[in-house]
Amino acid sequence: MTAEPNATNPARDVPVIEIRDLHKSYGQLEVLKGVDMTAPKGHVISLIGSSGSGKSTLLRCCNLLEDSQQGDILFEGEAVRWRGTGLNRHPADKAQVLRIRTNLSMVFQQFNLWAHMSILQNVMEAPLTVLKRDPAEVEEKARGYLAKVGIADKADVWPAQLSGGQQQRAAIARALCMEPRALLFDEPTSALDPELEQEVIKVIKALAEEGRTMIIVTHDMKLAADVSDHVVFLHKGKIEEEGPPDTLFGNPQTERLRGFLSATM
Ligand code: ADP
Ligand code: MG
Repeated sequence: MTAEPNATNPARDVPVIEIRDLHKSYGQLEVLKGVDMTAPKGHVISLIGSSGSGKSTLLRCCNLLEDSQQGDILFEGEAVRWRGTGLNRHPADKAQVLRIRTNLSMVFQQFNLWAHMSILQNVMEAPLTVLKRDPAEVEEKARGYLAKVGIADKADVWPAQLSGGQQQRAAIARALCMEPRALLFDEPTSALDPELEQEVIKVIKALAEEGRTMIIVTHDMKLAADVSDHVVFLHKGKIEEEGPPDTLFGNPQTERLRGFLSATM
């Protein structure tokens, strides 16, 4: 018998993540000014926009790494419960935060692997310590995910012995080993040389084809166009334009998006 702390039983059509009218400030600086975003199950959402537009903040608000001052965050239909208001608003229920955070695994630009642990230990760490899973079972799964991202042979080496692309693939295996409901990527290829970028993109594309729910912050318009069901263009903390990639990239409606695309593509 295995405990399944990450298992819930959502109705089919309930989005994995739903954000409604989200406002977020750092002190006096309002960086999200009423954002709505929905990630239906099995969909890939890309978040694009200039540096400083609030993409990372929005992603970090989704899995409650950041507080927000106003608006709702729903995970599989379950609204985050808050206490306090304004800059004093925080999630009220620690168990709920843990459940949401472990179900929305984040992959960061800088990989953030533990330098003092082998690659296998990195991948096993959270399922063992946070989810309290059985070690033998976790090891089997961890090795499976390392194989899936193409670095099964790197299980016993230190992160520093891997290339950036291999480290990022290890970070993706680590996120997968939590068996989350969705993966959140924050500029997963930005720290990589172009030739290493492709090996990570290949993994992300394979995950999209598997029907995983993902939100991807990216500066890579080709990646966004290739993998997304829906693209959100953020400008100064507001959604300026959104839609299917064909429309957004092929027929942008706003001057701002046209300007952004001509500067980046
Ligand atoms: P993006 O990911 O689109 O580049 P961010 O979400 O990182 O944008 O940042 C949005 C705005 O919030 C920027 O003006 C940034 O300087 C500011 N910001 C981000 N993190 C913090 C923080 N921890 N404290 C204060 N300001 C922050
Ligand atoms: Mg960012």
